[in-house]
Amino acid sequence: MRKPFIGGNWKMNTSRASGSDLARAVSDGVNSIRAAVDVAIFPPFPYLMTIRQILRERNSAVKLGAQDCYFEPDGAFTGEVSLAMLKDIGVDVVLAGHSERRHVLGESDELINKKVKATLEAGLECILCCGEKLEQRVSNLTDTVNERQIRAGLAGVPGEYLSRLTIAYEPVWAIGTGKVATPEDAQTAQQRIRAVLAQLYGQEAADRIRIQYGGSLKASNARDIFKQPDVDGGLIGGASLKSDEFVAICRAAAESVPA
Ligand code: PEP
Repeated sequence: MRKPFIGGNWKMNTSRASGSDLARAVSDGVNSIRAAVDVAIFPPFPYLMTIRQILRERNSAVKLGAQDCYFEPDGAFTGEVSLAMLKDIGVDVVLAGHSERRHVLGESDELINKKVKATLEAGLECILCCGEKLEQRVSNLTDTVNERQIRAGLAGVPGEYLSRLTIAYEPVWAIGTGKVATPEDAQTAQQRIRAVLAQLYGQEAADRIRIQYGGSLKASNARDIFKQPDVDGGLIGGASLKSDEFVAICRAAAESVPA
């Protein structure tokens, strides 16, 4: 049985004050369901320490996430942030391969793979994102793209690190667009991703890896998607900026697990 995992990716949003309020509201809102669902929030870099403190004061089970990292340990990499720095300030989990980093910032599969390996080697959790663009979907390339991104992203990642790995399937055409995959489409894609993980690491290991769905999830559409057998929660962008909406999504995930 996989415990659902919900991530709230705040992207380049909030201020120190509004992010602090949001972190407090999320932490308090999900406290009573902490046994049923894992929750992480991904604030912008400048607010990580402030929000670490807020979560610590509340003895919160909400994990602190970073939206990105750099794979080198230190050195002349202006503007970058190392895993050691993220660990030092109490980050638990790091995103890799988000579609905005792939398609807006131009990150390659090779760079993403270095970030995944460095994150897991540092002992932190990693969410590796994958997903097809609209033109790839209409050309029936969804599974091909996901398979390529998963194989490339995990190249050289040993099986012993997998307990700290989550995959997020996020069709690019669904991110921030209000268009959400049907529960059946999400299930089909995620079942195929799990099959690729099984080819890489064996069925037992693949069955333990959580696969989130991401793309315009809201409280109103989350429930049906979370019911799918290969959907283990979600990665949430826009709706993670509204505490009521985000907490309702976390509740839907907690309730998706059969008693
Ligand atoms: C995301 O950024 O990972 C995401 C899924 O965004 P949204 O929920 O806004 O589509």
